[in-house]
Amino acid sequence: MMVLSLDILGFYGGFPVEGSAASGYLLTSDQAKVLIDCGSGSLLKLSHLQALHDLDAVIISHLHNDHVADLLTLDHALIVAKRRGLRQHPLSLYLPEQPHTIYQRFETEQFQLHSLSSINSFNILDLQMSVMSVRHTIPAYAIKISQGNKQWAYTGDTAYFPELISFVQGTDLLLSEATVSAESKHSSGRGHMSGQEAGELAQAAKVKRLVLTHLPSDGSHQAIKKAAQNMFQGPVHLASEQSHWQI
Ligand SMILES: [Zn+2]
Ligand SMILES: [Zn+2]
Repeated sequence: MMVLSLDILGFYGGFPVEGSAASGYLLTSDQAKVLIDCGSGSLLKLSHLQALHDLDAVIISHLHNDHVADLLTLDHALIVAKRRGLRQHPLSLYLPEQPHTIYQRFETEQFQLHSLSSINSFNILDLQMSVMSVRHTIPAYAIKISQGNKQWAYTGDTAYFPELISFVQGTDLLLSEATVSAESKHSSGRGHMSGQEAGELAQAAKVKRLVLTHLPSDGSHQAIKKAAQNMFQGPVHLASEQSHWQI
């Protein structure tokens, strides 16, 4: 029986709110543990589930702070794990190369860097990954992960654009950002989607289930969910603290 599961470590856009972390997701298969994004507070949540050094790879959708802030803390956990003989080899870190000043911070002995700017697809143990460049305020990627006939997709931070539909087509679980809403001052709206757009994307791509994430620090998350439900006929969920999904 093949296992593919998703744990939500953090779901806020921008920064942690009331003890809940910014973007961070743990994907687990029979062979692999992959951390997707590493925002503020996400490592604290990961530490409840497993040792921080016990990862096979990290994939970062883009280099905004709410997606990378805990990476240097992870670097330190890897230094200590090496000293204690718990982990010898560097951790594969897939990320965009721009902005380069931020990318350079992760050029350490603990990480083996792979630039997403030059690869579209790659494997991590039993998982097949593909990435697509999306529309955000800096270079950013949507990520799709398959194992056998199971497929999971994550939009990262992006505005809605038609090519997203074919990228996430038919996935078992779409984790979509939904940052923008009329009641919220959290985001200027540039490079992000509303609940309605996330719902439109899920409906057009005929995904099986939609989970909304990168939620704003103000306004009503329920209103964002309702806006998505108005567009998508399948099940819609809000990402929540430490929630666990079988894909
Ligand atoms: Zn973000
Ligand atoms: Zn961003």
